[in-house]
Amino acid sequence: MKKGKSGSIIIARQEHGVSRKLMSPNALRTLYRLKDNGYVGYLVGGCVRDLLLGREPKDFDVVTNATPGEVKRMFRNCRLVGRRFRLAHIHYQDEIIEVATFRSQVSNEPDPGQEEANETDHRQRHPRMLKDDDGMILRDNVYGTREEDALRRDFTVNSLSYNIVDFSIIDYTGGLADLNAGIIRTIGDPAVRFQEDPVRMLRAVRFAAQLAFTIEENTRKALVVAADTIVRASPSRLYEEMLKLFLSGEGAKCYELLRQTGLFAALFPDFSHWLDAESEGFPHTRFGEMLHYVDSRVQQGEKVSPPLLLALLFGEYIDEKTAQFRRQGAPWQQSVNAAAAEFMGETCPIIMITNRVGLALRDIISQQMRLKKIPGRRPESFIARHDFNDIIEYCRITCGDKKDVVKQLDWWAAQARQQVPVSLSPELSEGTGGPKRRRKRRRRRNPNE
Ligand code: ATP
Ligand code: MG
Repeated sequence: MKKGKSGSIIIARQEHGVSRKLMSPNALRTLYRLKDNGYVGYLVGGCVRDLLLGREPKDFDVVTNATPGEVKRMFRNCRLVGRRFRLAHIHYQDEIIEVATFRSQVSNEPDPGQEEANETDHRQRHPRMLKDDDGMILRDNVYGTREEDALRRDFTVNSLSYNIVDFSIIDYTGGLADLNAGIIRTIGDPAVRFQEDPVRMLRAVRFAAQLAFTIEENTRKALVVAADTIVRASPSRLYEEMLKLFLSGEGAKCYELLRQTGLFAALFPDFSHWLDAESEGFPHTRFGEMLHYVDSRVQQGEKVSPPLLLALLFGEYIDEKTAQFRRQGAPWQQSVNAAAAEFMGETCPIIMITNRVGLALRDIISQQMRLKKIPGRRPESFIARHDFNDIIEYCRITCGDKKDVVKQLDWWAAQARQQVPVSLSPELSEGTGGPKRRRKRRRRRNPNE
């Protein structure tokens, strides 16, 4: 370990266990291409953190001193994306490597040091940082140096970079010490960093839960103070982040932290209020059970679609709204639609669930009735629905221990396996009329794609 410029620490190859064998060959290819063209390139962020922890990185991010335009000229398989951050995506057969240009936190930063000047002087600097009146970053395309790029990242453990030239790891923020101690700590003043981007609060919670780390005391205190400001983040980003939290494989832990910090009540004010109350003398326990169920599936490497996730987490709440509409005299289907619409109306101003996912969520709940009608009309077209598995899964998880439901599910499973014309099962038949006519099936767009 040796000291580099500006208080950085450089960990030589023989002092760390990160081997190129564990890296994506495409990421390595990208780094070497940058290097061969006279630019610098580093692996950075989550992948370096995960490699050091012996975890498999989800994706490999690269930073360079080449501008997005220069990267585009270097790679035929490159597309430039992003408005908030201008990024280059290098498309390989089964992977996209994200290449970002070093960025700076501030628009009027002091002149870079000699070493960095060499890295940056051949490219333009665009003062394209935009903050709103409350200090929230709206756009941040200010190019910077390697050090500035490390300092503008969210947490110390996310700021480490890996140098392809000598395979060393560079630490500007004390990230390595925090990684060894299992600590999530913002870089700089946590109050300022959460004000600049409130989504960082959710990221702190997710990393703490996923890595089994603790949130450092000052970071945690600032987070609790700022929790209510989470609603200032864009609803579509909050939706993406909510999926990441609940599909992280540690959703139950994330929820616990969200509750303790006040983030959950800020994100889901109505639902959170309902969750704390009882219905007919019973506490609402399904939400917690579902979080554990989703965690177990994700940990086994199985996928849970966003509509199914939302149905599992919020289905009981929506059912209760449905019952209210029923009591007011609305027919069942109409009541489900109204309940789902009410749920969307409450949630979407803060967390933007897309209309497509909202409708798919509603369908999973409203099609539960269809499962009871055996065989019902045209069961083969019901089985062919793109969300058939989600409908079955929802039923199995939420009321699969009831005897009659088990039988129904067995029947549907058998039909789905065979996909042959359905015959009436006398034991289970409830409605009348088997398959009547065959209509040409149209393929529907899968809302989970
Ligand atoms: P994951 O395992 O979820 O991919 P990650 O740390 O790689 O974790 P990404 O969202 O892929 O997270 O972001 C890559 C890197 O970009 C982060 O490690 C961090 O350095 C930086 N970063 C991402 N989001 C922010 C943010 N909101 N503010 C500052 N830096 C961020
Ligand atoms: Mg990542």
